[in-house]
Amino acid sequence: MAAQKTQAIVIRTFPLQEFHKIITFYTPDFGRVKAVAYGVKSPKSRLSGSLELLNHGTLLFQHRENRELQNITDFNLIDGFDAIRSDFTRITYGCYFAELVDSIASEGIASPEIFDLLHTTYHALVHADDIPLLARGFEIKFLDCAGYGPELSRCVQCGSSVREGTTDRFGIAFSVRYGGVLCSECKNRDGAAFTIALGSCELLKVLRKSEWERFNRIRASTRNHQELKRLLGNFIEYHTERTLKSLRFIENVL
Ligand SMILES: [Zn+2]
Repeated sequence: MAAQKTQAIVIRTFPLQEFHKIITFYTPDFGRVKAVAYGVKSPKSRLSGSLELLNHGTLLFQHRENRELQNITDFNLIDGFDAIRSDFTRITYGCYFAELVDSIASEGIASPEIFDLLHTTYHALVHADDIPLLARGFEIKFLDCAGYGPELSRCVQCGSSVREGTTDRFGIAFSVRYGGVLCSECKNRDGAAFTIALGSCELLKVLRKSEWERFNRIRASTRNHQELKRLLGNFIEYHTERTLKSLRFIENVL
């Protein structure tokens, strides 16, 4: 058992009996860390109020190998993202990003890239003009960090370059199962492949490589929005093997 100190963001909280909570953190050094916060719901607890979803802080915990639940020693709040919390749409998307990280990230596999992505996304979310576009940016960047990024330039069956002039007039076929675009010769290899406009595919490449500072200057049509939401939504569902509750909520309520 060793005392550990790491940056952490709260990505899930779950009540345990009357006064305790199970908290899931995402950390750059240990990946996902699940821990019990004893007595945290008591007003006397010094951790009371600091272990809310999305909170970013410094976590001290007793690390025990091969244990599902760790013991929290302390959590010093760095940022509570109040500007996200005070806006219903922003907090809803913020919860979705946390749920997405929780659904794919493996316990104990550290990914500083995923931590940085989540952290910078929450800062970008405070100022985002087009929040669904930011969400598509988060999805593609997160899939890349997690090793599931789709192939957007070369046919995933034959390897030929897929770009303007090599696709038919309806657009580009995308296969969730094969993990990327299909050329016009190969598009029938996956009966479930669907077509997106060339412009939507190009936009997705832009979202993939753009820094968050650029996002408020990127414009997307209604069609781009619909196609990328469907493409990334189906792709994420395929890899997580479930429908995320917060995504369903966004679709039904926002
Ligand atoms: Zn092909």
